[in-house]
Amino acid sequence: MWQRIIDDLTAYNARLVAVSKTRPIEAIEALYEQGQRLFGENRVQEMTDKQPLLPQDVQWHQIGHLQTNKVKYIAPFVSMIHSVDSAKVLKEINKQAARNERSIKVLLQFKIAQEDSKYGFDMETVRQMLDSEAFAQMQHVKVCGLMGMATFTDEQEQVRAEFRQLRQYFETLKKEYFLEKEDFVELSMGMSGDYKIALEEGSTMVRVGSLLFQ
Ligand SMILES: *Cc1c(COP(=O)(O)O)cnc(C)c1O
Repeated sequence: MWQRIIDDLTAYNARLVAVSKTRPIEAIEALYEQGQRLFGENRVQEMTDKQPLLPQDVQWHQIGHLQTNKVKYIAPFVSMIHSVDSAKVLKEINKQAARNERSIKVLLQFKIAQEDSKYGFDMETVRQMLDSEAFAQMQHVKVCGLMGMATFTDEQEQVRAEFRQLRQYFETLKKEYFLEKEDFVELSMGMSGDYKIALEEGSTMVRVGSLLFQ
């Protein structure tokens, strides 16, 4: 299945984040052997447990909601955080990155789904943050793009519309804030059930779990 998904992505120049949450080390190693290097976890504890057991060139992506008090555990090694959903957590990521003398790549998570359980920014709140003096002072985070999760539904046109909305947010913010920033290029969208639609709507990174481990 890994190769089939990789083939789907190649035509779009997109990357696969293999979502390894709840999967045992052996299953992750098997994907590593095939050539996979980006792995996504949604719980800090699970990521910090697994990280020392796998080769050092694995790139760990935090994809699930991140509590401020947990940032310090992943700050030394995390490769990218997809789930920045508040100014508060971004400030803490910046602080912990500074402590580790590094810069951490992040994505701003937007709420695009109909469901109210999903975390994420709206445009007004994100603009407030990006306009703030506090944000201007953050030297240890690199905002690389946006992330979003579509509604869990069989209505393909609804899913497509939500991804398209996220793409529009991306283009708008790029123009308003990140025109000169060559790191601002990523759109993390698409999961097992909807990654093909996400690719058609401009995804650069899909986060696939269940389909990959079938
Ligand atoms: C679990 C998870 C995924 C992967 O979902 P699948 O449907 O198993 O592909 C993607 N993104 C996030 C944020 C997740 O928590």
